[in-house]
Amino acid sequence: MVLSTRAIQARNSVATVTSFFASIQGVGRDPDALDFTFGNPHEPALTGLTSAMRAQLEPRSVDWFAYKTSERSAQEAVAAGLRGELGIDFEPDDIAMTQGAFGAISLALAMLTDAGDEVVIPVPGWFCYAPMLHAADLFPVGAPLAPVDFSLDVDEIARAITPRTRVVIVNSPANPTGRVYPKETWDALAEVLDEASHRHGRRIWLLSDEPYRRIRFDGIGFASPAGSYPWTLIDYSFGKVLLAPGQRLGYLAISPLLEPAERTALRQSCMPLQLAIGWGFPDALMQYSAPALESVSIDLAELTRKRDRMFGALNDAGYTLTRPEGTFYLWGRAPGRDGAAFCAALAERGVYLMPGTLFDQPAHFRISLTATMDMIERALPTLVEAADAE
Ligand code: PLP
Repeated sequence: MVLSTRAIQARNSVATVTSFFASIQGVGRDPDALDFTFGNPHEPALTGLTSAMRAQLEPRSVDWFAYKTSERSAQEAVAAGLRGELGIDFEPDDIAMTQGAFGAISLALAMLTDAGDEVVIPVPGWFCYAPMLHAADLFPVGAPLAPVDFSLDVDEIARAITPRTRVVIVNSPANPTGRVYPKETWDALAEVLDEASHRHGRRIWLLSDEPYRRIRFDGIGFASPAGSYPWTLIDYSFGKVLLAPGQRLGYLAISPLLEPAERTALRQSCMPLQLAIGWGFPDALMQYSAPALESVSIDLAELTRKRDRMFGALNDAGYTLTRPEGTFYLWGRAPGRDGAAFCAALAERGVYLMPGTLFDQPAHFRISLTATMDMIERALPTLVEAADAE
């Protein structure tokens, strides 16, 4: 066998995603295709993004494009942003700049886990948690979200915990459901994790995956579990709020609420571990741009209009949907409760949605609202007509 066991497990656990990805490869090039699959841009890049990058492009010193670890100016901007958003006293040294949330999750796993550890993940949840865990010789253990409204079910997390659990991953605003969880949920989870850590004689860490943190609707507030449980690491990506996931920039933030010895140990591990996982730092250009990018965002008012239009029309047509509170996804149940057949039938008619099978929820589908309003208007007649089978 050429491949390692972990390579085979990682490959198999993401097979529904990679085969779906392959199946829609031609779609992007078809001007008539209505593509609501991945959270990719369908409009020109934000001028705030391109101007921030352009301002940093010309080298100002001979080492402008030398090997870069975490750039101080980026760490400072991120720490200040986090202090403002979360009301927690982050310092620049608590921030490791990474290649998006992907890079930050890899770094957190490298910091905290040993081979064979278990990591609890939400179901439905982002489809790359499981392959990333397999590739790190870890075991994903799914904890179902609450049926119907997809709230975080703290009892299910408690049930998923074993003596081998090292990390619990949570994600709010949540992909694919668009749910945003309140502080009371985090307080309840903190109690469960603290109790289980003591019972098993081993600290269970929380990894709060927050790449959609700034994408919320209707003024809904945001609480990070870092405010409830000190043993929390936050990962973030600029790729969502800038709608430029190909420009890799993100970070891992260490909670300043940790005991000083733990905080120092984690801080000091960042640089060597980022080196060890394969130079897990963002490109110099993206790091120089970070301070300016902190205040750049997709148009949330326009995104809200798109959510309202799509949600309103499909809701009126009889679909069972979760009203997104954040993210740019709309999560719904397929007519006939067969997401794969539903999405295949729509694809025949030029409308491409993501089947729930990619999230271990075969009855569902996900719509990416990063499509344009024009695409939404053009797709709606087909989507409304397809509601009949319910
Ligand atoms: N976490 C979640 C929940 C996501 O949906 C994504 C991307 O889709 C990521 C992490 C990774 O983000 P990035 O590609 O910006 O690193």
